[in-house]
Amino acid sequence: AIYLDHNATTPPAPAVVEAMMSVFSGLWANASSQHGPGQEAKRALGAARAATARALGCKPVEVVYTSGATESNHLAVRGLLAAAAPMRRRAVFSSVEHAGHLKLARTLAEGGVSVDFIPVHGDGTLDLGAAAALIGPDVALVSLMAANNETGVLMPVAEVAALAQAAGARLHVDATQFIGKLPFDFAACGADAVSLSAHKFQGPKGVGALLLRQGVCLAPQTLGSQERNRRGGTENLPGIVGMAAALEQLGGTAGVAAEAERLAALRDALEQGLARALPALHVWAQGAPRLPGTSYLRFGRLPAEVVLNRLERLSVAASSGAACSSGGSEPSPVLTAMGVPPDEALAAVRLSLGRTTTREDVDYLLAALPPLLEPLLRQAAETAV
Ligand code: PMP
Repeated sequence: AIYLDHNATTPPAPAVVEAMMSVFSGLWANASSQHGPGQEAKRALGAARAATARALGCKPVEVVYTSGATESNHLAVRGLLAAAAPMRRRAVFSSVEHAGHLKLARTLAEGGVSVDFIPVHGDGTLDLGAAAALIGPDVALVSLMAANNETGVLMPVAEVAALAQAAGARLHVDATQFIGKLPFDFAACGADAVSLSAHKFQGPKGVGALLLRQGVCLAPQTLGSQERNRRGGTENLPGIVGMAAALEQLGGTAGVAAEAERLAALRDALEQGLARALPALHVWAQGAPRLPGTSYLRFGRLPAEVVLNRLERLSVAASSGAACSSGGSEPSPVLTAMGVPPDEALAAVRLSLGRTTTREDVDYLLAALPPLLEPLLRQAAETAV
């Protein structure tokens, strides 16, 4: 089977599984316990935190472990809003945030916070002019993803950080799809808080972090003594150690940059090969700055489920848009925000490449998929005439 759904989740690296197994069997004590085994677990937690901080360009105290990006996003948004000055009663989100994050945004009105959404252009890039108009002195929080999970489009984090800083607003960045795919440095990114999830970079599911700039106040959403009172609950040591191992196997900035280059070349070969064989191919955001391994495309107006069915026959795992919303018959909200009409949006297929993707995978797809789709596209063209 060929796995082309790395934006949904990634296979854990062997070093990650190995590191976790040794924690499960040998380091199961509670890191808050005062006895010997507890102190041993506490030392392992400290070592993982130091390794995580090193890999992400932050201080160890700036790492708040969570159960993943969804929780990190909730902690950042609710926690930063609760700590904001009373006259700041507005929040600004991009209109193409992850589905769960948009749901969270829509609940904020109940707490008396009004929310505005920054629109995107037709190529999926953020409308910076609109962002500048929305981010004023009454804004408490701006929340922006670093890279979109469907289109792969990179968002202008540095520019929005400057806008937020000028307005005195906090900036939260959901870097779930960015970290591990492109070089990242917390100290340099300009955000007050950054969300990440380990399973997007060959780590385990159910663990992630909120990186929180030292000195930034945040109201905890889960009470307890762990994580310096910012997130209660017994630490998930196997997950935390697994996440550190996942970050280490990325190979630092050089390793990430080299892999990004390899994936961009494979992605381009895939898109160019498909376009040559099937002129009805359309790739969204092709000219925009985007993640190296993400390709969001449609074959004419062939419904996504038809294309996915043919991919399934070839043992290729891919998805239509985000994993959490696929299976539905609603067009992707991300494509809708880009102004894409429903019949085109319902044809959307996402191919996302990753560390396990090889040149052979791409060559196989290029040889096997066009013959399956070509008759369908010809048929569709004939009935349209
Ligand atoms: N944000 C983005 C941009 C994502 O792509 C995802 C995962 N699909 C999440 C948040 C949520 O991550 P998790 O399910 O690990 O909490």
